[in-house]
Amino acid sequence: MESDVQKVLLTADEINSKVLELGRQITQDYVGQNLLVVGILKGAVVFMSDLIRQIKTPHAIDFMAVSSYGVSTESSGVVRIMKDLERSIENVNILIVEDIIDTGLTLKYLVENLRARNPLSVRVCTLLDKASRRKVDIAADYNGFAIPDEFVVGYGLDYNERFRHLPYVGVLKPAAYGGK
Ligand code: 5GP
Repeated sequence: MESDVQKVLLTADEINSKVLELGRQITQDYVGQNLLVVGILKGAVVFMSDLIRQIKTPHAIDFMAVSSYGVSTESSGVVRIMKDLERSIENVNILIVEDIIDTGLTLKYLVENLRARNPLSVRVCTLLDKASRRKVDIAADYNGFAIPDEFVVGYGLDYNERFRHLPYVGVLKPAAYGGK
């Protein structure tokens, strides 16, 4: 285990089985439909790359990058699109892939923004869900794991751009945040 990690919350094996299960459900739900899987950069990259290999019905992929306005680590709900989709999504089924839903503010903005472009449908798949932190009423259609209110890293999630490569999801030692 990485020396900065205090505990492993989800092992690589647990994540792998969940990704297989989510991929199976998504495959069943979208058979014969026009599907665009939209990954939210950068946190969802690792999850998305594993997930799409378990979606056995044809689909296209694209990415969006968003950032919250302001300097606070708390999401403000005011979101800026840093990278948008490559083409129109009219008459396409959209599946947003997120790493984690925390307050839900980012996702609410994204869903509303994409719905306004007249797709056939918009659904959400998240690896992690911190439901106790929710500020707006939004839930994923496909949900990996409910987790407690702890800051997690690994499997795509970072702290200051570090730890995204860890194959598991874990909680950092206080020292890793600059504490002792
Ligand atoms: P929300 O708008 O739901 O509050 O924010 C979601 C975003 O906050 C996620 O996409 C992620 O970038 C970040 N985030 C929320 N909780 C965590 C966490 O525990 N660890 C990491 N690394 N990022 C988090």
